[in-house]
Amino acid sequence: MATVELKGLVKRYGTAVAVAGVSLKIEHGQLVCLLGPSGCGKTTTLRLIAGFMEPSEGEIVVGGKVLSSPDRTVPPEGRNMSMIFQSYALWPHMTVAENVAYGLRIRKLDRATIDRRLKAILATTRLEALADRYPGELSGGQQQRVSLARALVVEPETLLLDEPLSNLDANLREEMRFEIRRLHDQYRYTTVYVTHDQSEAMTTADLIAVMNHGKVEQLGPPEEIYGAPRSEFVARFIGGANILRGTALDERHVSVAGSSLVVSGDGLKGQRPVSLSIRQHEITLAAVRGGGAPGNIPGGNVLPATVARQVFLGSVRDYTVTLADGSELRVTAPPDCNIAPGEAVALTLPADRCRVLAED
Ligand code: ADP
Ligand code: MG
Repeated sequence: MATVELKGLVKRYGTAVAVAGVSLKIEHGQLVCLLGPSGCGKTTTLRLIAGFMEPSEGEIVVGGKVLSSPDRTVPPEGRNMSMIFQSYALWPHMTVAENVAYGLRIRKLDRATIDRRLKAILATTRLEALADRYPGELSGGQQQRVSLARALVVEPETLLLDEPLSNLDANLREEMRFEIRRLHDQYRYTTVYVTHDQSEAMTTADLIAVMNHGKVEQLGPPEEIYGAPRSEFVARFIGGANILRGTALDERHVSVAGSSLVVSGDGLKGQRPVSLSIRQHEITLAAVRGGGAPGNIPGGNVLPATVARQVFLGSVRDYTVTLADGSELRVTAPPDCNIAPGEAVALTLPADRCRVLAED
């Protein structure tokens, strides 16, 4: 069983800390995405798991065995892991079939076994028709499938992927996300998938670990990471969240730009500064006729605002509005909701979508 456990993993380069204490348990057969901005320590974490370097502190335990620690690190070839790099690293002078079978040949498997496994993996990765071509005769997506086939054919216990789709154009990237998930559902290798792309992580992962400054900020299924971000960093990084600054009035109420909002979250204490997150599409926006005072609608969770600008994007309208304290919010509205800049609007913010964030 290839349960991969990272325990207090730290990697320093001189005085710089690339990985700053990562603890994470990846169950056998799970696909976990390490998601975060460039430089947050994703590749370093993956290379530590692969055994290309030893940790400064902490341990990596796979299937109950310690594979990495500061004083003893099992080399990559002793780990039963396959890693796929951003550049596919195919052999240019070998055909697709030869590239894919290479890992089996160096393991000195017999001819019949090699043929059988090669045939099966070429079928699953839809490469049969391309078996005799050279990498230079393939599109980016086809090369990517060859690198996947080559990694999978050796039947690794653990599959490690570092931004495997970043060299592909947008359409193909989307298609390959589903492909990777389909192959995962078929083979169920324990998989660690590194990406900076939110939708890639959402499509492929069982669990997402959002990383920032060498640490895991939040770990959870995609729905939870999206629906219940715990920090401002996670809320902003996972698309389209507004951050509201306010002051707690009591356990459930926060004053924002002079209006009181009912919020979801616990442990609020009166008179403390609070940050809230709410998604652009969770706010509804309505024109205010006759200059009413929408902030005073009891229990309405309404904020008065003014339209600063709006853009028609076909399926939606993207609004920027200004609150009474001058702060700006983005709101995604239906396309037929057409209110001119300068007009007064009422924003309704459902209480269960006003999420209290932990202080950074
Ligand atoms: P990511 O893959 O998330 O973009 P990396 O793991 O590659 O991030 O890098 C994390 C941090 O460690 C970055 O600040 C990077 O500059 C630094 N770093 C990575 N490799 C080295 C190295 N060999 N020597 C010094 N610093 C490094
Ligand atoms: Mg990287």
